[in-house]
Amino acid sequence: MYMADISKTALKNKIKMTIQALGVTPSLEGEHLDFFQEVIARHPECPKWGVPSVIGIRRNPVYYSMEVFGVWPSGTYPVSMDKCVNMKLPSNRADMYEAMRNSIDDQILAYRASCDEHVCVFCKSIERIEVDHIILFSELVKQFMVDRTPPTSFGRNRGSAIVLRPSKFCDEWRAFHGENATFRLLCRTCNGARNVNEKPSVASDGQQP
Ligand SMILES: [Zn+2]
Repeated sequence: MYMADISKTALKNKIKMTIQALGVTPSLEGEHLDFFQEVIARHPECPKWGVPSVIGIRRNPVYYSMEVFGVWPSGTYPVSMDKCVNMKLPSNRADMYEAMRNSIDDQILAYRASCDEHVCVFCKSIERIEVDHIILFSELVKQFMVDRTPPTSFGRNRGSAIVLRPSKFCDEWRAFHGENATFRLLCRTCNGARNVNEKPSVASDGQQP
């Protein structure tokens, strides 16, 4: 299973259903062990603890609710499934942006190729023309990532640029970007001067977001 392909809601449901189906289990085996090892690997503290080789399901002695626990050399501890589901990955956020950008490169090139004239829509310059996202790229990423799990690892393309690994996440991102991204041509000066906090007020190609 590739966790990045599952939404947080779907993962939460799968955890809940699995715990219900298995009931109290002192030591998980096979696919269930694999599954919970992947889940626990998402916990923000997991890099510190390591992934436990023994994982079980028990009733919390105080609350009597079902809980997942891991056995580490230092002891046996319950693991918050919510924290595993809502993992934060600040360390690879930049990688994710870069990978997502590089994974739609062909769409940018296709837009560029489709333009008859390479002229800046603002100043009419023909020098150093770049393709600009009218709806900010970061905004597209933000919309796409609602209820999605960020990928935990990335691949490299032939030019050794960081890219998304072939996955449902990658396919869906490319489709989303293809449907929602709007472009225009800007010279490097105008593109660089664009205030990233503001939606542009001028788009002479009529492609307003
Ligand atoms: Zn310009």
